[in-house]
Amino acid sequence: MDRVNAEWGYAARPDEVRERLRGGDYRAVLLTHNETSTAVMNPIADLAAAVRAEAPDALILVDSVSALGAVPFEMDAWGCDVVVTGSQKAWMAAPGLAMVAASDRAWAAMETARMPRFYLDLRKHRDSSRGGETPWTPAIAVVYQVDEGLRLMAAEGAENVFDRHETCADATQAGLGALGFELFADPPSRSKTVTAARIPDGLDWKAFNGEVKRRGVVLAGGQGKLTGQVFRVGHLGSVTTDEILGAIATLEAVSVSFGRAVQVGAGVSAAQVATIRAATGRAAARVGA
Ligand SMILES: *Cc1c(COP(=O)(O)O)cnc(C)c1O
Repeated sequence: MDRVNAEWGYAARPDEVRERLRGGDYRAVLLTHNETSTAVMNPIADLAAAVRAEAPDALILVDSVSALGAVPFEMDAWGCDVVVTGSQKAWMAAPGLAMVAASDRAWAAMETARMPRFYLDLRKHRDSSRGGETPWTPAIAVVYQVDEGLRLMAAEGAENVFDRHETCADATQAGLGALGFELFADPPSRSKTVTAARIPDGLDWKAFNGEVKRRGVVLAGGQGKLTGQVFRVGHLGSVTTDEILGAIATLEAVSVSFGRAVQVGAGVSAAQVATIRAATGRAAARVGA
């Protein structure tokens, strides 16, 4: 197994992936769509094209757990072979259900694969599904929840769901920036589903975060070497721009009470402007098209 490491905060580079694959005998390439820990979204279309160009027979396996359903994804057009997601992310349900899509190439590879498998043998799941069943007892309650999540998403319309996530990301980034938080991820690769910001030097983070939580906003911490360095705001699934504005208002109020150099109203204003700009920008783009 070989690994291409991207600098934390930056997207994986298609040219680097291509270079690494050159001349090698790679059977499969695993790609992470949304890097939840660093709030970076990788360009799966470009990365998949790089793999196809250099290793045409390699299977492309994508962890899109925290992206699929929130942003556009063209599995067939991009030539992806396996795409995985989970009920607890954009699908607005509890954890307990994984969803897997497989291409014809992936199904063919399952026939020749020698890796031991039983419970997670997708062929058993496919065969049972033809009769409207599952091979083993599934997490029924979560199936009902995902069904409701899908109903809500269908009623909203895929384009609107994607637009909403983009607007929430824009508003979060603008609001945090105006509150003096330095965003962690490289601007062109910032995620549409989660935003990471550095914890400012000199801020008593434990006390700050405790007060934010007491007021009803739950922030995620950093992971791995980013523990204690960043905090993250999730904005995927069941989330509205008004909720983002509320979260920014909370961060603003707590910032003021902690004596941070914040102009009252600046965070909420920046987030509100970003929200409106995103909507008018899209309307203009539609008229232009
Ligand atoms: C959430 C997530 C997973 C699944 O992790 P869980 O701990 O099972 O939720 C896998 N990959 C990515 C990129 C994720 O964001």
